[in-house]
Amino acid sequence: MMIYKRSSALFAEAQEVIPGGVNSPVRAFKAVGGDPIFVKEAKGAYLFDEDGNKLIDYINSWGPMILGHAYQPVVDAVIERTKKGTSFGTPTELETQIAKLAVKMVPGIDKIRFVNSGTEACMSAVRLARGFTGRDKIIKFAGCYHGHSDSFLIQAGSGAVTFGSPNSPGVTQGTAKDTLLAEYNNLDQVREIFEANEDEIATVILEPIAGNMGCIPPAEGFLEGLKALCEAHGALLIFDEVMTGFRLAAGGAQELTGVQADIVTFGKVIGGGLPVGAFAARNEIMNHLAPLGPVYQAGTLSGNPLAMAAGLAMLEALDRDREIFKRLEEKTEYLHKGIAQVLIENKITHTINRVGSMISVHFAEEAVTDFASASAGANDTFKKFFHGLLAEGVYIAPSAYETWFITDALTYEDLDATIAAVAKIAPTL
Ligand SMILES: *Cc1c(COP(=O)(O)O)cnc(C)c1O
Repeated sequence: MMIYKRSSALFAEAQEVIPGGVNSPVRAFKAVGGDPIFVKEAKGAYLFDEDGNKLIDYINSWGPMILGHAYQPVVDAVIERTKKGTSFGTPTELETQIAKLAVKMVPGIDKIRFVNSGTEACMSAVRLARGFTGRDKIIKFAGCYHGHSDSFLIQAGSGAVTFGSPNSPGVTQGTAKDTLLAEYNNLDQVREIFEANEDEIATVILEPIAGNMGCIPPAEGFLEGLKALCEAHGALLIFDEVMTGFRLAAGGAQELTGVQADIVTFGKVIGGGLPVGAFAARNEIMNHLAPLGPVYQAGTLSGNPLAMAAGLAMLEALDRDREIFKRLEEKTEYLHKGIAQVLIENKITHTINRVGSMISVHFAEEAVTDFASASAGANDTFKKFFHGLLAEGVYIAPSAYETWFITDALTYEDLDATIAAVAKIAPTL
């Protein structure tokens, strides 16, 4: 059993001066109860918290640390750059270097613009799509997350295809009415929305492999169907690859699925653990962006040298050793099989979804294919699962709607230890 005395004390202190004690809500343990863990340091596959506990980490900063924590080439690159100044507000050669590498690795893009977060990337991609098409409306899917900009904080009301209503106070009705909602994997619904809004849809944005309602793969033909609908109706297809980019393959979900989007957004892995986002497209679209074109987008710290150095070291490592993606998938499959066997032996109802190095365990009877089925899982069981694993030194995301991220730093011993932890707690679920 682990002790969390110091973490709890630090959390109490943080709550005095930071809303909820956290700078991003997912870090709080609201969905599972209890206090978040304050991390002191991390190396490879492990977190070391303020109470001296060692945890096997399956969150990995919510995706970026695909090669494990404190990956040496990234650490070295950042230290070296820091000595030369941390921000100039002028172009640097580094930005061209990482841009060239990204353009080489990702299919179908000519140019890429760097920003500071996935939120910024998606927000800017939608503005670009609107500017390019001269249209206002966007289609998004319930359960897909594209950051916290106003247009995206809209959820489906009982899966109905209606005008969105804001699900965060502060998002105006005016903004919400331009975001149209569909169910993930429901192509017919998207077709109906297009037909009801002829010549009004600027873009369809989605996670090509969803990762923010657990891991949900696209149904056979779903992505191809969206692409065909976009082409038929003059809309742009945006793949939000903030999570999947440089994770599922060097070329992300586009490479994995063979479907080419019009605009692709990045974040997480592309920054190697520093704050980076990016969006990219072919010239025809990217040339609409300021200062070349009329669509405005800017950032004082965009392309920051430390962030670019970290991102470049990360992408170079992934480009050099493409076997990484295969290794990650094999480890994820091993974990999947191990956990599934234990849950079956203990007669625990579950569904495990997995694509590449993304995996999620749902305590649900039916297949998890969209937001509604992801929501049908037994949350009480998940809470016990989460706290049980934590007590055994295994740290998964504190919500049933999150994907686990497998890193190259995880050894098969770590995976066995994780499966053993599941076996130990399974009778209590
Ligand atoms: C994390 C995430 C975002 C938001 O990125 P931030 O860097 O947190 O702003 C957007 N889209 C997807 C698919 C994500 O997973």
